[in-house]
This record gives sequence, C-alpha cells and structure tokens, in this order.
Amino acid sequence: MKITAKEPLSYIDGGPIQTICPYCGHKGTFEAISRDRCIQDQYICGQRLCPDKDCRGHLFVVLDRSGNLLFHYPFRNVSLKKENIPASIIKTFDEAVTCHAQNCFVASAIMTRRTLEEICEEQGAVGKNLKTRIHDLQKKILLPQELFDAMDELRLLDHDATRINADVFKQISTQELDVALELTIEILKALYHYSSLLSKMRELKNKYPEQQDEFA
Ligand SMILES: [Zn+2]
Repeated sequence: MKITAKEPLSYIDGGPIQTICPYCGHKGTFEAISRDRCIQDQYICGQRLCPDKDCRGHLFVVLDRSGNLLFHYPFRNVSLKKENIPASIIKTFDEAVTCHAQNCFVASAIMTRRTLEEICEEQGAVGKNLKTRIHDLQKKILLPQELFDAMDELRLLDHDATRINADVFKQISTQELDVALELTIEILKALYHYSSLLSKMRELKNKYPEQQDEFA
C-alpha cells in the first residue's frame, strides 16, 4: 500500500480503532497518541496504542474517511506456540496469517482452508467434505459443541476441495475469514497443545504415583 502525501496535510480525528494487537494478541480499543493527518482527502494516518497495560504496543495505522481500519504496522501476528504442531501445518498456517496481514484476503482464505485440510489429513479425520471432516475431529479434541455448530455458517468450509473455486473465496468477507482463522487457532491448540500438556501430566502421575495418592 503506497500513500503519497502532498501538502497541505490537514489535521483530523480518526478516533479509536478496534483491532487485535500484533504484540500481545489481545483484542481492544486502541486510542490515538497523536493528532491524525488527512491525506489526499481520502486517508487518515496516525498512531495508536495497545490498551493492555502490560503491553502498550505502538501501531502506525491508516483508516478511510469513515474510520475503518485499512492497514496497520506492525502486521498482525498470531500468538500461537508452534511446539508439537507438525512443521508442514505451521508452514501453511503462517502463509494464511501473512497473507491476511498484507490484506491479501482471498489468498489467506485459500491457505486457511488448506491448513484445516492438512490438519484433518494428519489426524486421519474422514468425511465427504471439509466440514464433515472437521466435525469428525470432535472425537479427538475438547472444544465447545457451540463452536462446531457455529462452524456450519462458514462458507469457507463448504464444498469439496475439487469443486471449490476462486469465486467462492472472493465472496468470503474479512469478518468470516477472521472467524475461520480464530477457529483454526483453537483447533490447533486443542489438538497439539492440550494433548501434549495432558500427556506430560500423565507422565508425572506415572513418575510419582505415591505423591499423587497423598494429595488425593
Ligand atoms: Zn498489546
């Protein structure tokens, strides 16, 4: 995104923005820390601060004249520990996140779907399409039933991979893509992090069975 700024640059108040902090991963209302400038009577450029008191991360932002966030730097980063997640799945997911951060939403939607497909394949989930395969994952992970029910609203998961085409991805809103990315993160955590934590706790129990009994 290139914005050329020619004088005069008027001052304007773009107001607070709602976004997810690229530093701490918390969603919040980011207040301005200096006066915004209006460029080409089209863009509002300024600086915002993360509301989290332990973070206070700084963002450069570009808004449209209605106050909608068009761009921020640093780009959004997803706070997700990569340990125990297969490298090929992380690689695909990183591409989905990077494309999203660069406002390449169609590419991000394709890679988000690809990530979910790879997870299902790695876990041996079965079903006639991606949605049913993810439902099949329910046997292996602990996630609220409501999350699986709400998943039916995601068009990103419709169709079979061989039938889905670029037009379907173009119709997907950024809001829907955000939800799909969040869902993917929760599935990754539930599959690869919680199960790893559980096995570590079981190892402890096997190692110190007497102590466990004492506390019982
Ligand atoms: Zn933050």
